[in-house]
Amino acid sequence: MIANRISQFLPSPTLSLNATVKKMQSEGQEIINLTAGEPDFQPPKILKEALIKAVQENHHHYTPVSGIVGLRQAIAQKYIQENDIEYTPEEIIVGTGAKQVLHNALLSLVNPNEEVIVHTPTWSTYIEQIKITQGIPVLIDLKPPFQLRAEDILPKISPKTKVLILNYPCNPTGMTIDRSELIKIAELAIKHNFWIISDEIYEKILFDQRKHTSIASLSLDIKNRTLTVSGLSKSHAITGWRLGWGCGPKQLIEAMTNLQSQTTSGASSIIQQAAISAFADTKSPIQMAQAYQERRDFLIRELSQIKDLDVFTPHGAFYLFVGISKLLNSKYPNSTAWCQGLLEKQQVAVVPGEAFLAEGYFRLSFAASISDLQKAVKRIQQFCLSINY
Ligand code: PLP
Repeated sequence: MIANRISQFLPSPTLSLNATVKKMQSEGQEIINLTAGEPDFQPPKILKEALIKAVQENHHHYTPVSGIVGLRQAIAQKYIQENDIEYTPEEIIVGTGAKQVLHNALLSLVNPNEEVIVHTPTWSTYIEQIKITQGIPVLIDLKPPFQLRAEDILPKISPKTKVLILNYPCNPTGMTIDRSELIKIAELAIKHNFWIISDEIYEKILFDQRKHTSIASLSLDIKNRTLTVSGLSKSHAITGWRLGWGCGPKQLIEAMTNLQSQTTSGASSIIQQAAISAFADTKSPIQMAQAYQERRDFLIRELSQIKDLDVFTPHGAFYLFVGISKLLNSKYPNSTAWCQGLLEKQQVAVVPGEAFLAEGYFRLSFAASISDLQKAVKRIQQFCLSINY
C-alpha cells in the first residue's frame, strides 16, 4: 500500500529514541536523557518579544517563497560581518529549518546514480536525504580523532561525484575543520568539479577560542560551487521554530525556490519576521557556548577516568562521541545493545554509534544541566564497572 520509496530510507534515529525516552519518563521512570540534538536553554527574550510583536503587527500571510526580504538582508549582513562572504538576498533561501534546506539542495543538485561524498561518523539525515534523490552516498570512514583531511576525500572522488557534504563543527563528533585543510578541500572541489554543501549549523558553538571559517569565504571560485547552510536552531535555542537558510549561487537558489514553491511555500511568516531580531543579539550564542564549554570540560575530566572508555575532546557543538569498543562483549555485542543496557540498568539515554554510521561509540549530548551530567557520569561509571568482560 505504501510506496516503495518510503521503505528505502530510515526514520530519524535520534528523534525516535527521544520519543522512547519521553514515553518511559511519562510512565514515571527517572531517565537522564542525553539524546537530544537541541539546546536545553530557552530562546533569548528579544526573540520571544519579537515573535509576540510579529503576531500583533499582523504578519500572518504568505511570504515570498525564498523568505521575506528583511530577513534575507539580515542574513546577508551576518555573512559580511561574521563570515567574510558577500551574498545578495537573491543568493539566499530561507526554509523550515536547515534540514529542509538541505533536502531542497540535494534534490536540486543530485541526479539518480550521482555520488555524494559524506564523512562518517555522520548525522544520518544526509544519508537518507541522498537516498531520496536516488543518488549514491560515498562514505569517508574517519577514525579518531575524526579530523577530516583533503587526503581522505581524494580517493573517494570519481567522475560521478556531484557533491561533497561538509559538516563542521560536526554532529556527532564535535570536530571542526581547520582553515588550512579547508583550502585544500576547496582546491579539490574546483579541480574535480563538484559542489560543496557546507552545513555550518553549529558555527557559533566553538570552544577554546576557535574561530569558524566558512569554506565559501576562501575564494570566488569556491563560493560559486558552495551552498552554505546554517540557521538559528542551535545558536538561539529555537529548534521548534523551524527556520534555517542556504546561501549560494543564484541558479541553485532559484532551483531550490522553485522546488520549495511546490512543497512548503516557505517558512512561517511570523517566525521569519521575529527571526530578524536574532541578528541583533550576538551575546546569547556566546553565553550558551561558554556554558557548553564548562560542561564539556567537566565531562572530559570525569569520563576520561573511566577505564576502557575512549573519550575525544570536541572542538564545538554540544556532543561527546565516546568509544566503547573495549566494553563490548557477548552480552552487549554492539553499541545499540550497550546503550539499551545503559538505559535499562542505569536509566541514562545516549544515542548508539550505529545511528551515525559508526559502530563502537555512543553520542552523549551535553545540552543538559550540570546536575544531570554529574548524575549521568556516576551512572555510566556504574554501568561500565558492572560489565563482566
Ligand atoms: N544539521 C545538523 C548537523 C544537525 O545536527 C541538525 C539538527 O540536529 C540540523 C542540521 C537541523 O537543523 P534545523 O533544526 O535547523 O533543521
